[in-house]
Amino acid sequence: FYQSNHAAGFGSFSSGGKIPLGLKRKGLRIVVTGGAGFVGSHLVDRLIGRGDSVIVVDNFFTGRKENLMHHFGNPRFELIRHDVVEPILLEVDQIYHLACPASPVHYKFNPTNVVGTLNMLGLAKRVGARFLLTSTSEVYGDPLQHPQVETYWGNVNPIGVRSCYDEGKRTAETLTMDYHRGAGVEVRIARIFNTYGPRMCIDDGRVVSNFVAQALRKEPLTVYGDGKQTRSFQYVSDLVEGLMRLMEGEHVGPFNLGNPGEFTMLELAQVVQETIDPNAKIEYRPNTEDDPHKRKPDITRAKELLGWEPKVSLRKGLPLMVSDFRQRIFGDHNEDSA
Ligand code: NAD
Ligand code: UDP
Ligand code: UDP
Repeated sequence: FYQSNHAAGFGSFSSGGKIPLGLKRKGLRIVVTGGAGFVGSHLVDRLIGRGDSVIVVDNFFTGRKENLMHHFGNPRFELIRHDVVEPILLEVDQIYHLACPASPVHYKFNPTNVVGTLNMLGLAKRVGARFLLTSTSEVYGDPLQHPQVETYWGNVNPIGVRSCYDEGKRTAETLTMDYHRGAGVEVRIARIFNTYGPRMCIDDGRVVSNFVAQALRKEPLTVYGDGKQTRSFQYVSDLVEGLMRLMEGEHVGPFNLGNPGEFTMLELAQVVQETIDPNAKIEYRPNTEDDPHKRKPDITRAKELLGWEPKVSLRKGLPLMVSDFRQRIFGDHNEDSA
């Protein structure tokens, strides 16, 4: 029933032409590691929606079953509790590798990025699957080039408090390219910039989720440092579209996937005030060590080669996240609001 990618060494649908997303074709078997998380669960929704069979591999470190419960009972959906640091045998066509402790609160001292990525590449090699790595804008560190292009090699402190994540993802990119060159594995690399939306972890310490939860709970918005550092915030549906186009396309990457709209943390706080509570107070806190001063993607490459660009602005996307957070924080039991 399923056509293996192995014989040709290419995905069965990738030899030359691009098949537009959503076009009818035989369902693929797809693994999404980290699929119970924020980005992963939205990706799973799209893949199931277009007719593929999806296996989620997740250890629920930061992910939640609630993000996927609406697929329980669907014969094309399977959820496996498993830590990708341990080997696993599966037969699939594509691997979206998202598993990663994604927030500073969680990512310290965790080998997922290196050992987990190695295992998933080993799996991809064995079954001839196409492998997509979700890397991060953090590989650029505290960038000396602005905006960041994919050819920039970054400015990362190898021994700092953030380096487990930054260097972990850099190593994951290296492993991915080594398996591509050395073992002929079909790979794709996405460098994801700050992303927000429904189902984000409420208390994992990232800035958008912090501000939104704080404003809803009538707590002051905690701005770290002077609040003049910048980030570029992408709505989750734009990211998922970009990841799928990357997987289906012919280009390895790396590709920046992010929204070029750049905001200081004070500007972000202002948008949150406008969206939720104009009277929300701002409280300054000391900044974390090695915090990048600015970050903004150059997405020329993704525009040209993937035909992708983000569609949802911060002012349009934020309200969609707020209604989800409101329901989760104030105990409305309908969690499926994405
Ligand atoms: P998330 O924390 O919501 O999702 C990560 C998922 O991985 C969780 O479900 C978690 O339980 C799972 N996981 C962690 N370690 C695991 C392990 N060892 N074995 C199995 N599962 C494991 O985070 P997210 O925002 O959805 O991030 C998804 C991916 O995108 C990550 O690789 C992250 O580095 C990348 N990324 C995200 C952003 C962003 O702003 N959200 C930015 C850059 C990169
Ligand atoms: N691996 C896995 N599932 C597979 C194939 C491999 O988890 O289906 C793991 C394997 O246990 C190893 C890693 O992936 O730790 C790398 O595998 P590879 O075959 O590339 O390396 P080797 O085992 O030859 O060192
Ligand atoms: N930040 C903030 N208040 C918070 C959480 C974070 O001002 O409550 C700042 C943080 O110092 C950083 C920016 O927001 O400059 C983005 O932080 P986040 O952890 O969300 O993402 P990353 O640093 O990984 O881009």
